[in-house]
Amino acid sequence: MSTKKRNWKPQTALVHGGTLRSGFGETSEAMYLTQGYVYKTAQAAEARFKGEEPGFIYSRYANPTVDMFEKRMCALEGAEDARATASGMAAVTAALLCSVKAGDHIVAARALFGSCRWVVETLAPRYGIEATLVDGTDIANWEKAVRPNTKLFFLESPTNPTLEVVDIAAVASLANSIGARLVVDNVFATPLQQKPLQLGAHIVVYSATKHIDGQGRCLGGVILSDKKWIDENLHDYFRHTGPSLSPFNAWTLLKGLETLPLRVRQQTESAGRIADFLAEQPQIARVIYPGRADHPQADIVKKQMSGGSTLICLDVKGGKPAAFALQNALDIVLISNNLGDAKSLITHPATTTHKNLSDEARAELGIGPGTLRLSVGLEDADDLLEDIAQALQAARA
Ligand SMILES: *Cc1c(COP(=O)(O)O)cnc(C)c1O
Repeated sequence: MSTKKRNWKPQTALVHGGTLRSGFGETSEAMYLTQGYVYKTAQAAEARFKGEEPGFIYSRYANPTVDMFEKRMCALEGAEDARATASGMAAVTAALLCSVKAGDHIVAARALFGSCRWVVETLAPRYGIEATLVDGTDIANWEKAVRPNTKLFFLESPTNPTLEVVDIAAVASLANSIGARLVVDNVFATPLQQKPLQLGAHIVVYSATKHIDGQGRCLGGVILSDKKWIDENLHDYFRHTGPSLSPFNAWTLLKGLETLPLRVRQQTESAGRIADFLAEQPQIARVIYPGRADHPQADIVKKQMSGGSTLICLDVKGGKPAAFALQNALDIVLISNNLGDAKSLITHPATTTHKNLSDEARAELGIGPGTLRLSVGLEDADDLLEDIAQALQAARA
């Protein structure tokens, strides 16, 4: 690659960003399936280990294909540096554990992906890290939860599955005022529809398993932040505990990034049409979609998101039996707890992704027995609307 200064728009960066060509001049990114690297001389090995000579040492530390994925993500996110991980949960866990130590306190929004909630609520306290979970939609709740030892704020926005929106800039500003850091799990918005670093967040994490792959193939994750934080806090943890992404999965995710803008744009457009259709249906009690004017935090959506998301939350009248009947009657839309996929997927959070929460905790999050989460895929929107309409009809019978 030339070293010309690049001022690319996302769609260009996602096709070309970070490309590292071998001597063969391949068009597509090369997949470097290698654990280690060889050195021409013993002196070269010594120099590389001393950091006097650039180059790869071992794929737990870094790998050329993984490096391309990290650089392309940096170009998209506008981040100085990144580390790719084997899964989204490896990214979340690393970002949190590398930001706090025993005796520190975390404040997190209670509406979190189930495993993120387990890390904060169950894992962290085992190591002397206390956590307070708050209703993240009101900044006053974050302020009230702050203690002298609060070092980290953690949130997801829009949240899973009720698509609540948290004011990222407001939480970032609170974090800055007390010298704490803010980690944002940006999976639901995708890097295209929300830029947490620009809003003041210090660290952004993704499950690349979702829209970044977007085609149901592999797990992956990524942590993005400033170079100093990564060098000083994440680098050694990463080398020595090994949450590394495999080069094969990095290659798959690189190819996913090439089409991310096209997919997210199409899925969002279809989601908007489906949300509007669902809102008109007498069997549906409530539709929550960040792209609609009736979203509970529509003003914050306008401030921090450039798109309405590819996910819809809906409440079916008649509780669990009605929600199950609707799911079972769908033909194109598949029942699955995954999201961001080319295939439209629907899930019943109360009995799947959020089944481990108490009834009370579920009610706090707005997850009722009739709540469904729909991840809109790449099928023709007319076919999806027809499928949903026929399923509503069948569920009524
Ligand atoms: C899926 C998901 C994760 C976990 O990612 P994995 O790749 O499945 O480990 C974390 N946060 C959010 C918001 C997710 O949707």
